[in-house]
Amino acid sequence: MKTDMDRKLRDFVGAKTAKTFADVLDIETVGELLRHYPRRYLRKGELTPFDELEVGDQATVNGRVKKVTVRSLDTKAEIPLVEVSKWSRRKTLTKVVVTDGKHDLELAFFNQPWLATKLTPGTAALFWGEVTMFRDIMQLKGPGTEILDDEDLTEAEIERRARPFRPLYPATAKLPTATIERSIKIVLDNLGEDLEDPVPELIRRKEKLLGLVEALQKVHLPDTEKDISDAQNRFRFEEALVMQTILAQRRAVTDALKAVARPRTAGGLLDEFDKRLPFSLTDGQAEVGEEIFADLERPHPMHRLLQGEVGSGKTVVALRAMLSVVDNGGQAVLLAPTEVLATQHHKTLTRMLGDLAEQGMLGGADHATKVGLLTGSLNAAARRTAMLDAASGAAGIVVGTHALLEDKVQFADLGLVVVDEQHRFGVEQRAALSAKSGDNTPHVLVMTATPIPRTVAMTVFGDLSVSTLTELPAGRSPIQSSVVPAKQRPDWLERAWARVREEVGKGHQAYVVCPRIGDDVKNAADEEGDLADGDEALDERSEKTLARPPISVVQVSEALGEILHDLRVEILHGRLPADEKDAVMTRFAAGEVDVLIATTVIEVGVDVPNASTMVIMDADRFGISQLHQLRGRVGRGKVPGLCLLVTDLWESSRSYQRLSAVASTTDGFELSRIDLETRREGDVLGVAQSGKRSSLKLLSVLRDEELIFTARHVAQSLVSVDPELADYPALRSFVQSALESESTEYLEKT
Ligand code: ADP
Ligand code: MG
Repeated sequence: MKTDMDRKLRDFVGAKTAKTFADVLDIETVGELLRHYPRRYLRKGELTPFDELEVGDQATVNGRVKKVTVRSLDTKAEIPLVEVSKWSRRKTLTKVVVTDGKHDLELAFFNQPWLATKLTPGTAALFWGEVTMFRDIMQLKGPGTEILDDEDLTEAEIERRARPFRPLYPATAKLPTATIERSIKIVLDNLGEDLEDPVPELIRRKEKLLGLVEALQKVHLPDTEKDISDAQNRFRFEEALVMQTILAQRRAVTDALKAVARPRTAGGLLDEFDKRLPFSLTDGQAEVGEEIFADLERPHPMHRLLQGEVGSGKTVVALRAMLSVVDNGGQAVLLAPTEVLATQHHKTLTRMLGDLAEQGMLGGADHATKVGLLTGSLNAAARRTAMLDAASGAAGIVVGTHALLEDKVQFADLGLVVVDEQHRFGVEQRAALSAKSGDNTPHVLVMTATPIPRTVAMTVFGDLSVSTLTELPAGRSPIQSSVVPAKQRPDWLERAWARVREEVGKGHQAYVVCPRIGDDVKNAADEEGDLADGDEALDERSEKTLARPPISVVQVSEALGEILHDLRVEILHGRLPADEKDAVMTRFAAGEVDVLIATTVIEVGVDVPNASTMVIMDADRFGISQLHQLRGRVGRGKVPGLCLLVTDLWESSRSYQRLSAVASTTDGFELSRIDLETRREGDVLGVAQSGKRSSLKLLSVLRDEELIFTARHVAQSLVSVDPELADYPALRSFVQSALESESTEYLEKT
């Protein structure tokens, strides 16, 4: 279906302008142009406050000229205004001071002396360009200019400028907002009335949304504030609807996939395991368990996300699901993000299962199974055994890293895949899995300790059902956190080490976490890519008064060598050989090490209940959620946890506030929200900052929660009656182009 929306822009504006649109904004069709919405609106006569400008911005400002001077660049002599016409071929600098009534802004124009006769004091004009700093003065250098009360204007221009609001578009120096405005006006004036609306009429009426043509008029040429909000609201809904329709269709496809039903059976491993559990399940664990069992009973693959705080007991939930599948004659795989974690999971599962994992061994329980481990660092023999156990079905449970998916590993009957701490488990990975289990797709359970607001989960994990563990197991001790401003209060840092010593004195253990390894001197780059929340941390870095490299494991271990000389201190980081890492971790877990100085390798999954204290050095170098994750490593047993966030920053800085937020609450959802609010939408969705057009222009997955829920509902019902959207051609073609444009890339990242 072709509509006016698909027509090429060059049919409306000049070929040159059309090319600029294509080059600069990647806009080629009428539809694309019309959905280039204003960034903000300028009320007639309103001056943009200059103090909101920031160096580096591409800004459009509205100002009134206060003063103009023209100088010769050769002699630096000022040129009287009456003489500027003679200078048109010589080197000049025209400086214009404009004001918003409170603040001044300087404009610098090279070799355009005639501007001085146009931009006379009192003239109001729009200026656009990049905000720069020159000798401590904020400037626009060679900005585009549009005089607002110009005399010789065309009829159309006069009409355009008389409007109560001027739209200001995301623009560049090459394609200023005025050009965009003019082009949009031309397109709007020549548009047919019967444009197909992607939002079906019935829904528009029910949700009280503007029709497409009216909304386009109002978003670009509003008469009132209400026009703007009505129009924006409609387009937000449209974006949400398209996104949710894609997700609903995808759900329909996955729902149609086949899986082997694995109904819960009595008297097997699961029952044995439950009987032997040294604690009782929390209500949440039991409930989520039931949800999972219900999923496993269906002949379609489960796609469930299990989220829960660090220490909320996700592993037990996952293990019960795995056992249930094994009871059915199937196999389960647990995938961890790193080898260290895979190894640890293997140990944990083996320990929890006890004789239930001792198949074929003396003393093994009757229907015991085997827990296999498959990592890259296994020697050839061990690897062969593990592969054989997987292929023969002898191993009911196989633990490994994600690499296991790509490997030539075969399974006898793969029924369930549990993915730990992985946000990217998408279409491709699922395909790889299906290939390992014949026609049937295995059930999938994804676990994460990074809580995600509901709408983000719905968007990014769109086709997964979500289960959440909200409570921590009883008997868990709360973690107390404080910020230690090391520069302002060096005595507090001393006190921190004293605390570590006290804890060790009580028989407990401690972690000291550093942002860097530091085993080579060459530079201070983040060697392990440790700063997972990199962008944010990077932004904050510019705030630093102190441009020193982050503190390293090596530095700290040298310094602590003296302070804690009588304690058993060891280091752990990603560049140690695998067996050494393992040995260190094993000694720490066995209580043979008092203090472990480490990078974030200990971030996820490490479980040493006797560890009570964590000191995080240069804590400001980590993101909020990462700090929260790290902190979850302590207070896992009966011992109250203590987390000290050491920073050189001063209390007034923004990063310090972030640390205070982390110290003030242990509610992961709250922190996740704080974290997300400081990010840009694209980052929230994990979209690369590619500059590509996003299909979400006005919609915010954080702000527009209610609207997204409504759209999800609508999409679900549309797709359930009409999966191919045969009756909704306009919506169908929108969905189609959204899928083709890569602008929905984030939807693939589940
Ligand atoms: P997560 O993976 O969610 O971070 P784990 O599954 O590793 O959490 O559980 C953390 C600790 O709590 C483990 O030592 C586990 O044995 C223990 N645990 C799990 N469930 C319970 C429960 N219901 N009661 C007491 N302890 C529990
Ligand atoms: Mg875990």
